Parts: sequence; C-alpha cells; structure tokens
Amino acid sequence: MQITAETPFKASIVPLPLSSTPSSFSILPGNAPRTPLQNTLKKAITCVGIGLHSGAQVRMTLNPAPAGHGIVFERVDLTSSAPIAARYDNVVCTRLSTVIANSGTPEIRVATIEHLMAALHANGIDNARIEIDGPETPVLDGSAAEFDFLIQCAGTQILELPRAVIEVLRPVHVEEESGAFAELRPARSGFALAMSIDFSASVIGQQRHAMPLNLERFRQEVGFCRTFVERKEIEALQKMGLARGGSLHNAIVVEGETVLNPCGLRHPKEFVRHKLMDAVGDLYLAGHTLQAGFMGHKSGHTLNNKLLRALFASAENWRFVGSEESSRTELRATA
Ligand SMILES: [Zn+2]
Repeated sequence: MQITAETPFKASIVPLPLSSTPSSFSILPGNAPRTPLQNTLKKAITCVGIGLHSGAQVRMTLNPAPAGHGIVFERVDLTSSAPIAARYDNVVCTRLSTVIANSGTPEIRVATIEHLMAALHANGIDNARIEIDGPETPVLDGSAAEFDFLIQCAGTQILELPRAVIEVLRPVHVEEESGAFAELRPARSGFALAMSIDFSASVIGQQRHAMPLNLERFRQEVGFCRTFVERKEIEALQKMGLARGGSLHNAIVVEGETVLNPCGLRHPKEFVRHKLMDAVGDLYLAGHTLQAGFMGHKSGHTLNNKLLRALFASAENWRFVGSEESSRTELRATA
C-alpha cells in the first residue's frame, strides 16, 4: 500500500472536549503495563512528502524488523551510508528538530524524526527499519497523526522476545539558565508526562498538560497537535536554511493574539500538547520505553536529549525491567 501526502487522513482526527485537559499540573499515575513482548509492523508502508526544514521531497518506507533490532533509519539515497539507530547518543543536532547521524559521518543524517518516533512509541513499536531517500522525514501535516495512521494501516506484529523497559531509579534533572528544565522521576508503573510552556505570543501564553502514555490518550490528546512557529521568526529561520518546507498546511503560524491558519487551532492547548508529543518522541531515543514520570518546563529537543544523556551518565540512575541482558550490555557500553 502506498500513501502519498495528498491522501486525506483527516477522518482519523477527532476534535476534543476542553474538559479532557487535567486541571492540576501533576504527574499522573502511569497505565497498566503493555504487552511484555516486543512488537514490529505487520507489513511495510510508504509515504511521500516534504521535509519541514529542508523543503526536500522524500519517500519514506516503514519496514518490519526482528526483535532486538530497535528503530533504525537507512538513507537509501546514499549508497555508502550505514544504518543509523534512533538513539540519544546518535543525536547530532537539536535546533528546532531532533537530528541523528552516526559518529564519524555527521553529514549523513536524518532530521525531524521526533513526530514519527512519538507515533512509534505510542503504538508500542519496538522494532522498525525505516528507509528514507532524503535528509529529513516528511512533515506531513506537522503532527504525529499521519504517522500514527500509517502504523495503523501497516498493523502491529507481536514478536517472540520480551520488551525491555527502562526503569528510572532516582530523579534526573537538567535545566537551562532561562528556567527551562526537564526531569525524570521514578514511577511505580508506566510512563507519564507533564509539560508546561510560557510564550510571549499571547495566543500561546502559559499552557500545561499532563497524561499517562498509552495509545488511546496519545491519539485523543496529543498525536494530532501540530508544530508551530511565530511569524516573526520565519524569515530568520529560512535564512538559516530552516523551515523551507513550512507552510500553513504543516505548521501553526502565530502572530501576537492571532493564529494565521485559516482553519485555526485543533485544540486551544495545541501548543503545549505538541511539545508533550515531541517529548514522547524524543525520549523514545532512550532505545526503549520508560517506567518513569517526565516533567518538562519549556523543554524542547535540546533539553530532552540532555535529559537522556544525564540519565545514562550513571548506572545508578536506571535499570532494565522485563528485559534481556543483552540490551543492558549494549546500552551500558555507550553510557
Ligand atoms: Zn514537533
């Protein structure tokens, strides 16, 4: 099955009642553990679209992969490129998106992987081989909803090996001078996230959102929320070679009190919910899902990655649960 960027996916996106937003900014208890076995896709599925920052048209195929493979990207347009594992220690740039590359070949990269990673994380896809013929994933509608739809179309295949989950054993905190911070805390079960933001643009302002990570909550609350930019930043971004593929079709553009997109927002708190969805994707670069509570304040790709590096900087911070020993050995070797 081939799906192009023109395929109408919107039927899968359901508007939400405002009452679904929690009133308090606290880490919620995680969900019950998911299947203890690893998953992959049932079949390959392809999409075509442009990159948000590069503006380049790319074709991307999500392929099944065996247990223990992890999420790995392959630049099929470059004959000499090695597969790039979607892991925190392969992140080479976090300016506006999460970019991965192998050490030694930083020019062979895959950018803006966070929305796809969020959809894979929420769907419990542990293993996938992602072929891409350009430097950046397609932005599609600027959210994770269409990647989620692709994964739904491909279906999920349960594999024979147990899933390794990273249990956070003690608080890990990173921060910036601006007051932005990101934190992981131990949790009895599951993975819950909370995010708050504070923007000068009054249409964004202060927003907060919290939820446990499970597929239903992901789809209902954050998966459909689009990336966003302030209009005053666009020219500067494009001079830096960024946002070249950006448009009102794949990003929210705000100016002061105004959302410039003719159809407005998908949710009044679409901004913070998008940032929470970004964290779901960025933190999946741990290589496994987490048993933890995450809290971020004005946290983006840079702090999310620093948080994972801080987590794995000490063997006292974490352990595997329900996992094979080989995964522990592999991760500790890079920490
Ligand atoms: Zn994003």
